[in-house]
Amino acid sequence: MSAPFSWIRPEPWGIHIVPADVWVDPGRAADRALVTHGHADHARGGHGTAVATPETLAIMDLRYNTREGATPVEYGETIRLKGGVDATYIPAGHVLGSAQILLEHAGERVIVTGDYKRRADPTCKPFEVTPCDIFITEATFGLPVFCHPPIEEEMAKLLDRLAAHPDRCVLVGAYALGKAQRVIAELRRAGHKDPIYLHGAMEKMCRLYEEHGVDLGELRLVSDYSKDDMRGAIVVCPPSALNDRWSRRLPDPITAMASGWMRVRQRARQRNVELPLVISDHADWDELTRTIEEVGAQENWITHGREVALLRWCQLNQRRARALALVGYEDEDD
Ligand SMILES: [Zn+2]
Ligand SMILES: [Zn+2]
Repeated sequence: MSAPFSWIRPEPWGIHIVPADVWVDPGRAADRALVTHGHADHARGGHGTAVATPETLAIMDLRYNTREGATPVEYGETIRLKGGVDATYIPAGHVLGSAQILLEHAGERVIVTGDYKRRADPTCKPFEVTPCDIFITEATFGLPVFCHPPIEEEMAKLLDRLAAHPDRCVLVGAYALGKAQRVIAELRRAGHKDPIYLHGAMEKMCRLYEEHGVDLGELRLVSDYSKDDMRGAIVVCPPSALNDRWSRRLPDPITAMASGWMRVRQRARQRNVELPLVISDHADWDELTRTIEEVGAQENWITHGREVALLRWCQLNQRRARALALVGYEDEDD
């Protein structure tokens, strides 16, 4: 018998599952990859085969043309890998198609979460708490100062500001995969029925969400309309477009940004954001610590983010933990 958990090895480029010779979210092209979700720091092109949910594979195909060598796995489905390793995909609640991957070998259970959140999100299936021996978690917002407000409050702020300025528009910067669609779906849930205008870079991903059953209401491309058409409207663009020439075609935009980092005033100022919206697709501090408690693993491995504070919390709460020094994960896709 080999030592406990020697079959799973954190390397700088990702998590290596040795008997199956597969990598989870590898940071460079691998022969065999298990992919948790479509964000660029987890999903890449160039793998020999990529195993992921059908939604994540569709996202990867859209971004990297990875149709070849793609193996779809539905939520709840288990696939048998080489060397007697089973992999089961479980919803992570992060973006469309996002999964935690449960790996089982020789009676030992390890979960790799990728990225996750615990709040309800109309654009993806909710996180499922699943018991395991080793819980591999992110820590993007792993500091007690990070406490995401209810999204309804942030939506109300946006809609109030829009109503107060019928001659202007509200321009919302939001990441093209996940955040943009969630903001639009939440605006619909809040009762906003008017057309929402999109920067061209948002269109394909929004259509992909719609093809997978997420209703986003009437969407229009900014380029098809005049300045006057957009008075009193909401416009969604990538964060990079917030302050560039492109926005000159809009009627005196109120610039907003939807991000967990908007909790940090300095970040809002750096981006010239008039209306910061604290909206994140990652767990906040309370959700990270609550999830560690609920999952109840013997050990917690922390992949990326603010590892030190979460490690300290684990120590104070008599939970074994270690930080993995993984390379290439970013936390801007929040
Ligand atoms: Zn992500
Ligand atoms: Zn990430």
